[in-house]
Amino acid sequence: MTVGFIGLGIMGKPMSKNLIKAGYKLVVFDKFAKFDDIVALGAEGASSNKEVAAKSDIVITMLPNSPHVKEAILGAGGVIEGCKSGQIVVDMSSIAPAASQEVGEALKAKGVAFLDAPVSGGEPKAIEGTLAIMVGGDAKTFETAKPVLEKMGASVVLVGDIGAGNVAKLANQIVVALNIAAVSEAFVLATKAGVDPAKVFDAIKGGLAGSTVMNAKVPMILDGNFKPGFRVELHQKDLQNALDTGHSLNSPLPLTANVMKTIQALVADGMAANDHSAIVRFYEKLAHVEVRK
Ligand code: NAD
Repeated sequence: MTVGFIGLGIMGKPMSKNLIKAGYKLVVFDKFAKFDDIVALGAEGASSNKEVAAKSDIVITMLPNSPHVKEAILGAGGVIEGCKSGQIVVDMSSIAPAASQEVGEALKAKGVAFLDAPVSGGEPKAIEGTLAIMVGGDAKTFETAKPVLEKMGASVVLVGDIGAGNVAKLANQIVVALNIAAVSEAFVLATKAGVDPAKVFDAIKGGLAGSTVMNAKVPMILDGNFKPGFRVELHQKDLQNALDTGHSLNSPLPLTANVMKTIQALVADGMAANDHSAIVRFYEKLAHVEVRK
């Protein structure tokens, strides 16, 4: 089976490497980033999204946001122009659920099946091949694509129809953003009170407040290491998609709206390309302390 992979950024590169390692023949393309390293590992380099689709049985996209996915799949020279009836397209980007449904409908008109399959776990789990993959689509397409997805993830769960994968991802991103904000507020308080934040971490990480987010982000914060990882600007995009979806459904998201303002302040302060653990920098600036070892 030949797998086409489009979008070879922070996530797409390690994900595509795991597919090569698993023995799949890959055809790859990225419109802006270099991908000579993936070609050096045995993948065939293509010169357009259309060419990737024409040469693959299943096409995977891993792109920043809804407009990029719509352009790469439905735009001029896009995947849809190279696809044949019976083929499968899997978009693993985190985008608006409504955009997934729009792409799915357009492909269906050509007889092409579609899954939205966003991921959680970040670059480290992309490298390990242990991502959590949340999928929207029909059961038959899911079963066909599942062996490929399993080479990139430790869990691959069908959540519902097309768009449901990205609804699950929005829920994930709300929980992560609010968790980082809560950790930031709490650890700034501890530091301001004159208590060693590293000791607070040791004391509470095994209790009810402990979380995967706390374990991943507090060590980075204590080291003052805000290298991404997951960029602030990508989390801004996810929360915007969550707020838009909430507005369209009349589902209130007051805490998400609040953290969105924090993230906007970070972007205005030049921190768009920092890891999202930089949310702590907003609180640190307000309180005039730094949560460091
Ligand atoms: P990235 O910006 O590093 O990579 C995206 C790639 O897509 C870039 O190399 C870009 O050149 C390419 N691209 C953009 N438009 C294109 C087009 N029209 N045709 C072909 N290529 C195009 O982003 P990333 O960090 O790899 O994230 C990708 C997706 O995964 C995003 O939706 C992000 O929210 C999600 N995600 C990221 C992480 C993370 O930790 N980085 C974790 C989970 C989910």
